[in-house]
Amino acid sequence: MKYVRKICPACGNQFVVLESMEEKAIYCTLKCFLESQDQISENKTSPSLHE
Ligand SMILES: [Zn+2]
Repeated sequence: MKYVRKICPACGNQFVVLESMEEKAIYCTLKCFLESQDQISENKTSPSLHE
């Protein structure tokens, strides 16, 4: 099986995933995934505050 190195967009950690899981594994941990989801929803609910 092949492994692929990726950089977590949430915390910047480098981590390794199976090549077959590469597209699904974006974040190094579930915690990073949840944190990124929180940021996205915050940006969507309050876009006018930044203008
Ligand atoms: Zn991470």
